[in-house]
Amino acid sequence: MKVLVINCGSSSLKYQLLNPESGELFAIGLCERIGIEGSKMEYETPANDFEIEIKQDMPTHKEALELVINAITNPEYGVIKSVEEIDAIGHRVVHGGEKFASSVLVTPEVMAAMEECSELAPLHNPANLLGIRTMQELMPGKPNVGVFDTSFHQTMPKEAYMYALPYEDYTELKVRKYGFHGTSHKFVSGVAQELLGNPAESKIIVCHLGNGGSISAVKNGKCIDTTMGLTPLQGIMMGTRCGDIDPAAVLFIKNKRGLSDKEMDDRMNKQSGILGVFGESSDCRDMEIAAAAGNERALLAENMFAYKIRGYVGNYAAQMGGVDAICFTGGIGENSGKVREDVLRGLEFIGVELDKEVNSKRQKGNVLLTKETSKVKAFKIPTNEELVIARDTYEIVNATK
Ligand code: AMP
Repeated sequence: MKVLVINCGSSSLKYQLLNPESGELFAIGLCERIGIEGSKMEYETPANDFEIEIKQDMPTHKEALELVINAITNPEYGVIKSVEEIDAIGHRVVHGGEKFASSVLVTPEVMAAMEECSELAPLHNPANLLGIRTMQELMPGKPNVGVFDTSFHQTMPKEAYMYALPYEDYTELKVRKYGFHGTSHKFVSGVAQELLGNPAESKIIVCHLGNGGSISAVKNGKCIDTTMGLTPLQGIMMGTRCGDIDPAAVLFIKNKRGLSDKEMDDRMNKQSGILGVFGESSDCRDMEIAAAAGNERALLAENMFAYKIRGYVGNYAAQMGGVDAICFTGGIGENSGKVREDVLRGLEFIGVELDKEVNSKRQKGNVLLTKETSKVKAFKIPTNEELVIARDTYEIVNATK
């Protein structure tokens, strides 16, 4: 079985061809600057360490996907002889609203329902849908499966996902917490469950910390709360996103500065977070280097980042009545021992005993970061969203055969 996983952004496209059962990765890459001058594609086949960059015009996602298909079937460096060897295509779709609590086989009705969810994610869903339509055109008859960032969080109880706004804002406008990064939270909490020895009951907190970041509380395999909301702006402080603020500050800043809606939106989504506080970069590594060199704003950003994450760890431990494992994933969670140590500092009272030496070492794969005696375990678990998408695709296609 070979599944092609497609993740379409507005001007980019990530792809992987993999075996969903074994996880074997045949090809991986990225098309950038689609519809912009200077578009290029990266293509890699990990089995033989082959890497190539192809500079070619890609006016639309169609040309980008054609280029991907040409590369994977290339007689010289391809990994399959023809597209017939691809069994199904799995697509990342950002917003599934309340309609999609799990992944689905794409049908015309499903496409129409996904279109309706576009209103909730206008920057992402249209690109995801375009990817599906293009694959239907390029590989007619092949099954396409939609895997939603929001689905894993659909198990949240109502008291967790409702905002205390007039009730009709929920019933008429669908304003509520949805949560994102669901495929990552599902994958990482599943691995943690295994690392804990598959106990009958489990309380797991997943900290997905990348340029975007979110935390989830997963009780007995089901998400009961997460930090992102109606949009991926809510929750912890991120690379360029502000996360939780007083909602009244939005109108105050907008009016005082005379900003348009778009300018205010950009201010909160693209100019805030680590970038906003530190002022020089949104990158965690730059922040850490500057903080270590004594830059006060970098140090403040670093302290705020850990403070906000730790706050949610405490919140979710309280909501679950305890915690068995705290997991770190994403570019920052997997790589920054400093952030992990800062977050876990002071959590000894709930039973976290960090092994500072193990935590500061760079090691591949899943790593237990706490001492053997630690009542609460902490793990570093590399995420693999594409594998979740490929597995869901495989299961759905198999079930409908
Ligand atoms: P992602 O969005 O998951 O790709 O994560 C991107 C973030 O990971 C950026 O803020 C990077 O600075 C951060 N990152 C990657 N490698 C490291 C590292 N070695 N130490 C600290 N942060 C890192």
